[in-house]
Amino acid sequence: MICPSTRTAALGQLEAFLPIAGLYARDRNQVKIGHSAVTRLSPAIRHRLVTETEVVSELLGAYPFSRVEKLIQEVYWRRYWKSWLALRPEVWADYLKDLAEAGNDSAVTRIEKAQSGNAVIDHFVNELVSTGYLHNHARMWFAAWWVHEARLPWQAGAAFFYRHLLDGDPASNTLSWRWVAGLQTPGKTYLARRSNLEKYLDPTLLASLADGLEAFENPRACVPTAFSKAPITHPSWPLMDTTPPPATGLWIHEEDLSVETSLIGLQIYPAAIVTADTSTWDHYQFPVVKKKWISAALQDAASRAAQHWHSPTTLEIQQPYIESLVRWATANRLRFVTALRPDVGPLNDSLPALQSALDQAGVGLILHERPEDAQLRPLASGGFFSFWERLQKKLVLDPGGKSLPNTQQLWMDFSH
Ligand SMILES: Cc1cc2nc3c(=O)[nH]c(=O)nc-3n(C[C@H](O)[C@H](O)[C@H](O)COP(=O)(O)OP(=O)(O)OC[C@H]3O[C@@H](n4cnc5c(N)ncnc54)[C@H](O)[C@@H]3O)c2cc1C
Repeated sequence: MICPSTRTAALGQLEAFLPIAGLYARDRNQVKIGHSAVTRLSPAIRHRLVTETEVVSELLGAYPFSRVEKLIQEVYWRRYWKSWLALRPEVWADYLKDLAEAGNDSAVTRIEKAQSGNAVIDHFVNELVSTGYLHNHARMWFAAWWVHEARLPWQAGAAFFYRHLLDGDPASNTLSWRWVAGLQTPGKTYLARRSNLEKYLDPTLLASLADGLEAFENPRACVPTAFSKAPITHPSWPLMDTTPPPATGLWIHEEDLSVETSLIGLQIYPAAIVTADTSTWDHYQFPVVKKKWISAALQDAASRAAQHWHSPTTLEIQQPYIESLVRWATANRLRFVTALRPDVGPLNDSLPALQSALDQAGVGLILHERPEDAQLRPLASGGFFSFWERLQKKLVLDPGGKSLPNTQQLWMDFSH
């Protein structure tokens, strides 16, 4: 498996990567068989079996900042995309609308069956469908081919990736596809060139996929007809006191599966529930590989929760989550349910329905954020490099380049 589905094993994969993390900047673009030059941790980071802060803290514990800067920067690309979309949720809503309007295209169906007619693309489709993972460079080449060569709607490509990627993320995925299509940065599209594939693709693969390279010979950009800057409409949510009122149960969902590492993890709860967003799984037709991975990660979160809080913990991965949550809250005589707020995406879209079902049962919903997410979000008002510059001023770097004591300390000056 490309990335383990338990927190302990994911932390182990991070540990095992540390000895070569200093080579990441040099080797990360190589698309090798087995992908040993990159962490392959994205499914665990996406579902927060491991947080970005933990990854960065481990890296800075082992290396001076300058040796691992590129990897830290990549980890924060994820937080940048999440923050950018949280400030501009209409971009997600527009994507869903366009996707519904695009309907089914027979060309898309053929590509999804690895019958694109291009050996390179069929190879990546097979890898994606069988493993749930693609290297970043492969994602870029694939998306560029889809948009600029096959001239298919980027939204359909994004939905295909979202369905199969174990790390499929509403922000990283949708905004990366927008970036390739020229909608994210004015005047810039991403084109995949034959010379780039020849430079970075594993020589064994290159030899076997030679037939497909012609399509990357003279790429011509499919320039978007209109570019409009997405306005910021949701600047921030208030950070609230995390002390729960009496009779508050804890809800853990697949957007954040290490709640015990957050501030709400310090509180006591009479009961906890871990749910799966099965309606979204069905809507996007998640394949068995992906459903199995997320289910295992949810099970892992449930057993950690039971150990951490020593309270009855329910695991519900079969039924639609809203009904399960209401049933569980009523059975446990809860007055409130608390959780970490899911970022923009399908689960967040379902919150109004959850709120109204809980209201009817006389149960309140209290959503919290991790302070580090709340503090980084406003930095995504512009492009990534302005975000990165502002973030570095906030990041507590060990002046001597030695180890950093702990994760909390990494963020301590955010409050100033
Ligand atoms: C078209 C397209 C779609 C993508 N869809 C997703 C997606 O749905 N979910 C997702 O997590 N990433 C997505 N990415 C970003 C990136 O490709 C993956 O995060 C990365 O390949 C994951 O492999 P890794 O864990 O080995 O990464 P590493 O290179 O080891 O990087 C470490 C971590 O940094 C983060 N990261 C690295 N590169 C990026 C990046 N370019 N953007 C955002 N975060 C990054 C990831 O959390 C990753 O696990 C997409 C990129 C493209 C071009």
